Amino acid sequence: MACLPEHPTLNTSSPPNARLHIVLPDRRNLPRSIGSKAFLILLCAAALHMAGCAGNPPVTATAGSHVVLYADLSPNRALAMQQEADRCVQEIAGCLNLEPPEQRAKVILFGSRKALTRYLEKESPHQVGAAAACFITQNEYVVVLSRHWRWAETMRTLRHELTHYLLAAHFEKMPPWLNEGLAKFFELGPPYGSAHPGCLRTLANTLRRDNSDILRRIVALPEGVHLSKEQYAQAWALVHFLASDPRWGMGALKQYLKAVDSGVDQVAQFEKSFGRRPEAAHSSWRRHLLKLQGQAEGPVP
Ligand SMILES: [Zn+2]
Repeated sequence: MACLPEHPTLNTSSPPNARLHIVLPDRRNLPRSIGSKAFLILLCAAALHMAGCAGNPPVTATAGSHVVLYADLSPNRALAMQQEADRCVQEIAGCLNLEPPEQRAKVILFGSRKALTRYLEKESPHQVGAAAACFITQNEYVVVLSRHWRWAETMRTLRHELTHYLLAAHFEKMPPWLNEGLAKFFELGPPYGSAHPGCLRTLANTLRRDNSDILRRIVALPEGVHLSKEQYAQAWALVHFLASDPRWGMGALKQYLKAVDSGVDQVAQFEKSFGRRPEAAHSSWRRHLLKLQGQAEGPVP
């Protein structure tokens, strides 16, 4: 199942004490006889609290229509996140003309990357090291992520993983380029389809060269491989290119997914769905991205 790797646009580190919100008192303001002892007790309490957080997933649940969120957040913050997740599932399903899954996703927001890693070690060992993940257990879809220093980055990661959840609920076989390409396409949030600044930056060198083999290689990637940072960007770029063209759009991408899911070879199906072999689409793909790049950089003064 898909996961989100380290990505330069995502800040995966938490600042010191971001999780705890414990303010230690100034020792000078404590009575002299208990000052040092109280200070030490508070430090021990903070250390024990951190150790507990690193080992256990949050237990406070906020249930919505499409997700049940487990997070140590204030009730208002948790409700906002659950509602955003529900809206996101609904919108992405609408864009792909798919029904939202009948089974709700269990979304676990960890307070730290360390706690997320410990959980993955137990529950989905092959995804250890991922900054976020989506996987299926015997009876549920699970989305796990950790809090970023910036809330917007947390929500971007959430949208990415919820895209995987939605796709996994409908398709068993998914070519990595489309699974990850769609997740990166939707992670930016509405209005869907804007240019991805991080992916465009990653692609800057690639676009300087006319390497027509890129698309054939990305389309042929087999299920289960871990994509490199460049391949994530290429996957997003191919999805953006096909989704933006009125000849194809999201409808053609969905039909492609259905065909591959039924057992058709993913490279052969590309030509059937999009009218040309991947390598033959390279020039138009490159032009599309150079145009996006030019728009992102703005007019030259
Ligand atoms: Zn992913």
